[in-house]
Amino acid sequence: DHAAFDLKAHIRAIPDFPKPGILFYDISTLLRHGPAWKAAMAEMAARVMPYRPTLLAGIESRGFLLAAPLALELGLGFIMLRKPRKLPGPVIGFDYALEYGSDRLEMQADAVKPGDRVVVLDDLLATGGTLAASVELLRKGGAEVPLVATMVELTFLNGRSRLDVPVETLAAYD
Ligand code: 5GP
Repeated sequence: DHAAFDLKAHIRAIPDFPKPGILFYDISTLLRHGPAWKAAMAEMAARVMPYRPTLLAGIESRGFLLAAPLALELGLGFIMLRKPRKLPGPVIGFDYALEYGSDRLEMQADAVKPGDRVVVLDDLLATGGTLAASVELLRKGGAEVPLVATMVELTFLNGRSRLDVPVETLAAYD
């Protein structure tokens, strides 16, 4: 971890959520602490800027909490990658497999155009399935994805191995 402050001190681990046996890393405690949230966003800005994005994408819903304020700070546009049937008008979707069943991410059909460089943000990298789907969806729309970035990475799940783009994370748990 390169963060100059102790990000992990502001992330809480909650046992048995959303199911028994799952240890859920909760960033709510970070978000409600002004100076810590600001420091985390400054670190994220430093990691993202070298990749020269033209847009930032957030994955519903905690990804929005990172991508929107960072886009505003960097003077970039922000786009939403959402669960099915949330967005109005024509959409492009990408279906992906979960451990049990499947899920889908959608964006508005005109959200990206060829030549856009879109960095994707989410709160946490676990198996990498969600971020991998976001990369495929953005490519389907014609965009390049130079980077995906999260606050937290669960390294023991090796989600990076499912991603064919650079990955930046601010706090790793194993
Ligand atoms: P993956 O697709 O990498 O397996 O799971 C990542 C997605 O699930 C992210 O969108 C993330 O918000 C959510 N997620 C999975 N586990 C956790 C967790 O422990 N804490 C938080 N905050 N989100 C999680």
